[in-house]
Amino acid sequence: MDFYEISSLINLLTSIVIGCLIFLAEPRNWVNRLFFLFAAALSLWSFGFFMWQISSDADSALFWTRVLMAGSIWITPFYLHFISYLLKYKNGVTVLIKTGYLFALIFSIANWTPFFISGVVPKGGFEFWPEPGLLYHLFLFAWVIYVLAPIVLLAKRYWHADTDQLKQLRPLLIGTIIGYSGGVTAYFLWYDIPIPPFGVISASLYIAFVGYAIAKFQLFNVKAVTAQLLTLVLWLVLLVQLFSDSTTREQITTGVVLAFTLLVGGFLIRSVDEEVKQRKRAEKLSKDLAKANARLKELDKMKSEFVSIASHQLRSPLTAIRGYTSMLLEGSFGKLPAKATDAVNRIAESSRYMATSVEDYLNVSRIQSGNMKYDMSEFDIKEIAKKIVEDMRQEATKKGILLSFRSQADCDCLVQADVGKTRQIIQNLVDNAMKYTKKGSITVEVQSTAKPKRVRINVVDTGIGMSAQTLDRIFGKFERARNANEVNVTGTGLGLFVAKKMTEDMGGTVTAASDGEGEGSTFTIEFPYIR
Ligand code: ADP
Repeated sequence: MDFYEISSLINLLTSIVIGCLIFLAEPRNWVNRLFFLFAAALSLWSFGFFMWQISSDADSALFWTRVLMAGSIWITPFYLHFISYLLKYKNGVTVLIKTGYLFALIFSIANWTPFFISGVVPKGGFEFWPEPGLLYHLFLFAWVIYVLAPIVLLAKRYWHADTDQLKQLRPLLIGTIIGYSGGVTAYFLWYDIPIPPFGVISASLYIAFVGYAIAKFQLFNVKAVTAQLLTLVLWLVLLVQLFSDSTTREQITTGVVLAFTLLVGGFLIRSVDEEVKQRKRAEKLSKDLAKANARLKELDKMKSEFVSIASHQLRSPLTAIRGYTSMLLEGSFGKLPAKATDAVNRIAESSRYMATSVEDYLNVSRIQSGNMKYDMSEFDIKEIAKKIVEDMRQEATKKGILLSFRSQADCDCLVQADVGKTRQIIQNLVDNAMKYTKKGSITVEVQSTAKPKRVRINVVDTGIGMSAQTLDRIFGKFERARNANEVNVTGTGLGLFVAKKMTEDMGGTVTAASDGEGEGSTFTIEFPYIR
């Protein structure tokens, strides 16, 4: 066998195998169908080529060159259709594809007349080289256009591709260019240019590259089909062997091997199929999940935005209410009757709770959007705690609670943090202690350790306490204990969530302890101190 016979045989085999493999991987996908048509045209061309090469007389050589051309005519329009479908090109290309098919149809008919190939003559070392008829020149002109079109489409897409697309486009572009550059060499001798069709072997590379580009994205299907085809070939070989075996002994051996391969092969095919199905299910599931997740994130963002806007709107009227109630209580508008003082006091208290809640909502939305800002400086945390206790003592006394401050700290207790936020955190812990203590005492104690240098502020109360389960949850968003609702229904369950987040952002910790419900609670914040 010479080079051309081997080349065309290899081309024939690769295009049949790859074409069938890709088609069977997803027979209902148009990408695979069009690829199959392209592979079929290539196979017909390769087959015709091979037969032409082994022809021994002029008549059969002419016949086989016509078979060869019958395949060749359809390669370019099928390939253009395949590429434009794969890349989802529409406008303009549809007309080109339709015209391509129309021409291919006309050429296919003309192919069997002398207008296309007028005969065969010895040329360039070939015994029967075809002579072009009149229409052949038109065919070659169209061929050039239909070769360039998919290359242009691919190149255009290539410039704007992201990394994922590039992975698929690269083998396509390389394959197309290699394939058609080789294909060009087939045409020189027709015009008496002494270049032999040495490039025809590139057709194998062409189809291999393009097949690979598809297989990469339908990997599991292609694997499954390969397993099926290989098993089938094995069965066929064994079957042929069975019939060609001459002795009964050989037949029994082959029969046993065949039965065994049938069993194992069947099992293999089933399990690969099952795996492919599972993969598909998993892929679909993960796509659905990703969609749902994106939607949830969007909703969460919308919710935070809504809360932020609503809270801002609430803040200004609240400031006015609180300002005027405090002026009323101070007597700025004349002395209030005793009954009215009581009512205004309630307004003042409720609006203070409301202001804290609004502040909590705003803080949560700042935390979620990552907009919480900290203005760090050095200050004495002990003094802050002491001042808070002094400010709140009157309110505590009114409720019959003994609020006291004690410092056992052995440091200047200078910490590096945001003063305003630290004050807010301690205030929040003392507020909670007041809310959840009906009678008894609240003590704010400051302690320190030298190694490591840490200062601790304990807010110890004799209030409703917490169970072990409650302790686990209270720092979460919107978490409130059952016993908290009984004592105080106005809470949001956000204060501790915000306090924890802010303390940790500033390099501190906050913890809670309680011996159980009714046993009082201790909340502790801890910061490293500078001196
Ligand atoms: P809120 O007080 O608005 O409900 P917080 O986040 O400040 O929200 O507190 C969360 C929960 O922790 C409270 O609902 C309550 O169950 C519990 N809690 C907080 N402080 C105390 C305390 N000093 N004693 C008992 N339970 C407390």
